[in-house]
Amino acid sequence: MSEFQHSYRDLPEALHAQAPLRGFSAPELLAWNQPLATQLGLEWDAQDPAQLARWLSGTESLPGTAPLAQAYAGHQFGQFVPQLGDGRAMLLGELVDAQGRRWDLQLKGAGRTPWSRGGDGLSSLGPVLREFLLSEAMHRLGVPTTRALAAVVTGEEVFRRQAEPGGVLTRVAASHLRIGTFQYLAARGDQASLKALADYAIARHDPDAAAAQRPYLALFEGVVERQARLVAHWLSLGFIHGVMNTDNTSISGETLDYGPCAFMDEYRALKVFSSIDQNGRYAYANQAPIVHWNLARLAECLLVLDPELDGFQNALDRTPELIQEHRLALMRPKLGLATAQADDATLVDTLLQALEAGEADFTLSFRELSGHLHAPDKAWGEFGPRWQQRLQAEGRNLAQVRACMDSVNPLYIPRNHQVERAIQAAFAGDYKVFDELRAVLESPFDVQPGREDYALAPAREERVTQTFCGT
Ligand code: AMP
Ligand code: MG
Repeated sequence: MSEFQHSYRDLPEALHAQAPLRGFSAPELLAWNQPLATQLGLEWDAQDPAQLARWLSGTESLPGTAPLAQAYAGHQFGQFVPQLGDGRAMLLGELVDAQGRRWDLQLKGAGRTPWSRGGDGLSSLGPVLREFLLSEAMHRLGVPTTRALAAVVTGEEVFRRQAEPGGVLTRVAASHLRIGTFQYLAARGDQASLKALADYAIARHDPDAAAAQRPYLALFEGVVERQARLVAHWLSLGFIHGVMNTDNTSISGETLDYGPCAFMDEYRALKVFSSIDQNGRYAYANQAPIVHWNLARLAECLLVLDPELDGFQNALDRTPELIQEHRLALMRPKLGLATAQADDATLVDTLLQALEAGEADFTLSFRELSGHLHAPDKAWGEFGPRWQQRLQAEGRNLAQVRACMDSVNPLYIPRNHQVERAIQAAFAGDYKVFDELRAVLESPFDVQPGREDYALAPAREERVTQTFCGT
């Protein structure tokens, strides 16, 4: 049985505060992730869901844990806010798995913390189920992400746009260190704490950096690499994070904070879902330049510890190129291509332009490519003949090419209208819709007979065009 550890508590006091347990009158376990529990070495009795619900809603103290809220700052839509912090999340502790990897266990929506400001510290069940479905789907799609261990319905209402059932998510992450965590200390001029935090981040995410000539630069390069790969992954799947503030940008390179995020249905480069993103700052195609901007904010913090600009500037200057390299490395197999050519970026862009012009579904269009290896769709315009030429030049066995493509172009993604349907049913006390969608998303690349509907794009009247933070 894993024992909880508390390395974060040893960091300087400015970074954390005790979070009191609030508790709920009738918590009920709605979803439980047994494979993740096993990976974490948790030998809790899943046959006792009532006990799990009490622990994982903060109604009963989980043995060995001592909840704390983490401090952070952040640029929100470009504006610096010097103090944010966990307002509705608390870290229970850390677990080290059989491979020696350390994981944070965090409750989200369990009540107020010293950083709740005017908020209630609670979460509606809607965002809890959304994060559960999306983060677990993301994991199955092969994208680094925080995970969902459990979802609890609290038995108490929260007041958002209307009264809604409350929920608590148990989130698992390689860490909850954010660019904003560094900004918090840098803005306070607390250099000693900043150094302790950077050393902690190195130990946790870039252990090799400790022996580098410039450890903080090496840490920075590690974050740049992980974030470049992450955003390339999102782009390859039509995912829009929606609120890429620096406090939602993780040092571990995991997708963090599933708020108003969405997978696109029909492709549009400047697609936005978030109701609060009125200027499209975090539109699909802006995600690469935004992550670059966010990384510059991290560089500013680390320069306090290593004031030689050179290396940081180089790493930053290379970021757009690095994202593009990662993006093309993911896009080539999606197109059934095995070799890199100078005009690959143009090839991909030609396809995307055709999809946008035809208002074609992003996911299904990629999935259907493998059925058109002999005869490209006319709607793809000049992409078709160019692509054919590339395939012929590579001369691979087409059955194999097809199998490779189907293993990277998902058939099932957590489509907004399906997620919304699951949430609405759960609000009405019916969790079967959620369970079924969750099961479908466990195998996003496999054809699942009888579950064809889950692969479909929404009908016009089913389309969800806007998503909300749920705060
Ligand atoms: P987010 O939109 O999840 O990135 O949250 C932005 C900030 O608002 C963070 O500091 C959150 O902790 C805080 N926050 C969001 N919702 C609540 C809530 N219901 N109660 C207290 N704080 C909240
Ligand atoms: Mg956040």
